[in-house]
Amino acid sequence: MFDAISKKLFADEEGAPALIRRLLKENFGQYKYQYMIAFGFMIIAAAAGAASAAIMKNVINQVFIDRDITMVYVISAAVVTIFLTKGFATYAQTIVLSKIGNSIIAKLQRDMFEKVTRLGVRYFDHTTFGDLATRFSHNTGAARSVMDLIVLSAGRDVMSVIGLVTVMIWQNPLLSLISMTIMPPAVYAVSKLVRRVKKIAKSQFVSQTMILSLVKEMALGIRVVKSFNYESNMHSAMKSAVGDVEVQSNKIAKLQARTSPLMETLGGIAIAVIILYGGYSVIALGQDPGAFFAFITALLLAYEPIKRLARFQVNLNTRLVGVRLMYELLDMPEENAKTAEKPDLKVTAGHIEFKGVEFDYGENKALNGLSLVAKPGEVTALVGASGAGKSTVFSLIERFYEIDKGEVLIDDQDIRHFNMESLRSKLAIVTQDTFLFDRTIRENILIGRPDATDDEIIAAAKNANAHEFIEKMEQGYESRAGEGGTRLSGGQRQRLAIARAMLSDAPILLLDEATSALDAESESKVHSALTRLMKGRTTLVIAHRLATVRDADTIHVLSHGKLLESGTHNQLYEMDGYYRHLCELQFTSSNENDKDTKALK
Ligand code: ADP
Repeated sequence: MFDAISKKLFADEEGAPALIRRLLKENFGQYKYQYMIAFGFMIIAAAAGAASAAIMKNVINQVFIDRDITMVYVISAAVVTIFLTKGFATYAQTIVLSKIGNSIIAKLQRDMFEKVTRLGVRYFDHTTFGDLATRFSHNTGAARSVMDLIVLSAGRDVMSVIGLVTVMIWQNPLLSLISMTIMPPAVYAVSKLVRRVKKIAKSQFVSQTMILSLVKEMALGIRVVKSFNYESNMHSAMKSAVGDVEVQSNKIAKLQARTSPLMETLGGIAIAVIILYGGYSVIALGQDPGAFFAFITALLLAYEPIKRLARFQVNLNTRLVGVRLMYELLDMPEENAKTAEKPDLKVTAGHIEFKGVEFDYGENKALNGLSLVAKPGEVTALVGASGAGKSTVFSLIERFYEIDKGEVLIDDQDIRHFNMESLRSKLAIVTQDTFLFDRTIRENILIGRPDATDDEIIAAAKNANAHEFIEKMEQGYESRAGEGGTRLSGGQRQRLAIARAMLSDAPILLLDEATSALDAESESKVHSALTRLMKGRTTLVIAHRLATVRDADTIHVLSHGKLLESGTHNQLYEMDGYYRHLCELQFTSSNENDKDTKALK
C-alpha cells in the first residue's frame, strides 16, 4: 500500500515530490549534522516562543488579579530569559543554515560547470549564453532556497506552531477547535494560486535568459552594434525582455501576496470569534482570565508561522521551477560517458579516411555519403562553396558529433571505438577564429601541452613567428590576451594558435585558413610558421588561398556533402570542371599583384 502511494507520488520525475525528494537526498545527507544542530536551535526557539505565551497566564492571574509584587520581579526576569534564549537560538540557527546554503550553492555550481565541460558540442548548438548563465546563478540559488524553505518550514514554523498549539489546547481545548476551522478554506484557496504561479515562473526564466544573452551580445558585438547604428534595435529587444520579466515578477508577487489578505481576513474573523466567545466565558461564566490571555497570546504568536506555512506551497512551487531547470542541465547525457572505458587511439602514420559518411545536424544532410582520404605526411586541401561540408569534416574528425552512417578511420581504426581524449590529443587545430582565453599569453600557448616548460613555450612561439611580437608587449609572455583575444590582431591570434599546435606536437593538423586578408607582413609570417608546422604531419586544410591549393599534394572538391573531384591543382585545373570554376570565383591570392593570379589565367 505504502509502496503504491510512493510510486504514484514520485512517478512524475519533474513533479514537486520527486524533485524535493532528490534535492533532500543529495543535500540533506551531506549536511545532516549541521542540519541537526540547526534543528536543535529551532526547537529551543520554538519552546521559548511557547513559553512566552504560557507565561501570560501568570502575568494576568498573579500580577493583575492576585497583585503579588514578588511575582512581578520573577515574571519579568523569566520574560527576559525567555526572549534572550529565543534571540540567541534564532541567531545560531540562521548562521548554521546560511553556511549550509552557501555550501550547497558552491557545490552545485562546481558540479554544473564540470557537467557543462562534459557535454557535447551539439548541446551548445542549441543553447544560449543567457540560458546557461541563468541556470548557473538563479537556479542554483533556487535549489538553496528550496532547501531553506523546507528546513525552515519543517523546523522553525512547524515546531513553533506545535509548541503554541500545545499551549492553546492546554489552556482551552474548545477555543482551539474553533480556531482550527479557518484551515480548510485557507488550504483550498492557496492550492488554487499554486498552479498559476508555476506557469508564470517558467516564462520568467525564458525572459531572464534573453536579458543575459542580450547583454552578452552587446559586449561582444559592440563594434557591429555601433557601426550599423543598431543600438535602437538592441534597446527595444532589451526593453521587451526586461518588461516581460517585470510583468511576470509583478504577477508572481501579486499571487504570493494574495495569501496575505486571504489569511488576514480569515485570521481576523477567527480571532474576533474567539474574543467574543472567550470574553463571554470569562465575564459571564467566570472562567480563568489568565488561561484565556495565554490562549490568545499563543494564537497571535502562531499566526505568523501559520501564515508562512500557508504561503509555503506557493513559494515552494515558484522556486521548484528553477530547481527543475537546474536538474535538466545536470542530467544531460555526456559525450564522454560512453567512451571513457574505451582503449586509447594509437596514431603512427596519421592516415585519415572517410568511408561513405552520412551526417546531418538535425535537418538537411550536411554530408551525403562522403568518401575521401588524407595521406600521412601530406597536405590535403578541402575546397568547395560555402556550406559544402568542409567544416563538418573537421567536426567529425574531432568527434564533436556522431555520424549517422559510414566510418571515419584514422590509421584504419574506426574512431568510435576509442576514447575521446586520446583522439583529440592526436589533433592540432588552427582555425580562422582562434579563441584565446582572457589569461596570459603564456597560459594561452600552454593549452597545447600543459606540462611544457618555459623553454619549450618560447621555442614554440619562435617557431610560430610569435616570439617577437610577444616580447614587444608590455609584460611579454605574462600579458593578458583580453576576452576572446581582443587585445591582439587577427594575425597575432593565429600565430598564437600555431604556437599552441607546435607545442602539442600532434601528428594530425586540421587547419582552417583565414578568409579575411591579413596585411602582407602578417600574412608572410603566418605562412612561414604554418609551413614549419605542417612539416611531418598529416595536414587537412580548408583552403581559401590560391597559394595553399597550389602547394597541396591532393585537393578534394566538395559539393553538397559529397566528393566531386580530386587531384592536384594542375590536374583539376586542366579538367576544366567545377574546380576551375571555383578557382576563378573564390580564391584570394596572398599578395595583391601575386604571380599566382597571373599563373591562373
Ligand atoms: P562549409 O564549411 O563547407 O562552409 P559546413 O560544414 O559548415 O560547410 O556546413 C555544411 C552544412 O551544414 C550547411 O548546410 C550548414 O548550414 C550546416 N551546418 C553547419 N554547422 C551547423 C550546425 N552547428 N547546426 C546546424 N547546421 C549546421
